[in-house]
Amino acid sequence: MSDGLTIISGTAVAETVLGELRHEIDALRARGRTPGLAVVLVGDNPASRSYVRAKDRMCQKIGLHSLKLELPATTTQQELVEVVQRLNADPAIHGILVQSPPPPHIDEAAIIRAMDPAKDVDGFHPVNVGKLAIGDPTGFVPCTPLGCQRLLVEAGVETAGAHVVMLGRSMLVGKPFALLMLGKGKGGNATVTVAHSRTRNLRETLLSADILVAAIGQPRFVKAEDVHEGAVVIDVGINQIEDPATEKGYRLVGDVDYANVAPKAAAITPVPGGVGPMTIAMLMSNTVKACRLAA
Ligand code: NDP
Repeated sequence: MSDGLTIISGTAVAETVLGELRHEIDALRARGRTPGLAVVLVGDNPASRSYVRAKDRMCQKIGLHSLKLELPATTTQQELVEVVQRLNADPAIHGILVQSPPPPHIDEAAIIRAMDPAKDVDGFHPVNVGKLAIGDPTGFVPCTPLGCQRLLVEAGVETAGAHVVMLGRSMLVGKPFALLMLGKGKGGNATVTVAHSRTRNLRETLLSADILVAAIGQPRFVKAEDVHEGAVVIDVGINQIEDPATEKGYRLVGDVDYANVAPKAAAITPVPGGVGPMTIAMLMSNTVKACRLAA
């Protein structure tokens, strides 16, 4: 059993981030500049709809200008590109986000490339991916890995020299997080291993982590025996599992077997209430940054 387990509350850290942003937004507004975020939803995927609603509500809560565009599932690639181009040219909009996943006939990568990189607050445009790789602070970093890094910093976890194992190699989480950890400066300077479905001796690799970040979308995949005493565990996973005891018939769990891993860890994030709230807070933060950087 590890002494003094810290439960890293994403809910609490997100409140801190949002509190700081409110001050900055007030200062920008006093100078006649209100940061604006446009969120584009194509089709009627219920999960996407609820994410878009949450983003819109958060904008309103902290004083951002929010534009919610709901387009029918029949929207063509060309029509969507034109919407993005209009938003690129709109001076009241500093951040643009096209909610993923779009309907299958839409080429998502082409939509991202149509976006002005200076408004790509999701950090998916190749220019921003490149800026992250070369350590250019004017770029935008994807919100979830940025939120994970902020959680580590706020929890006082030393990343310099630590062995970070990133489980998962998506462009959304794993790869950008690995780059953040490799970066020089606060919250970086780690030695990084990226593990995935083709990693040999996966369990041994996980066990060697000082800081283990799990983002694979497999409920409770990381077990107590995969984690060494005193490791720090960040659980990005959000998975629905059946639970007849709940009203909805399901509940959310992470990629980490929390109940059994927590007693061995020095610090761990819960699901829900861990990485999730940070993702939306960092989206707000990227939008404010985009406004700050706009000429
Ligand atoms: P992807 O499906 O894009 O990527 C999953 C990654 O996990 C891949 O690299 C895959 O390997 C790897 N993987 C899958 N199964 C295994 C396995 N059994 N062993 C080893 N590696 C495996 O997922 P995302 O990165 O988009 O999301 C991951 C999780 O994080 C999901 O649960 C998602 O819901 C959650 N999430 C949470 C967010 C939040 O705000 N909290 C935001 C974004 C995502 P390979 O590449 O070899 O196929």
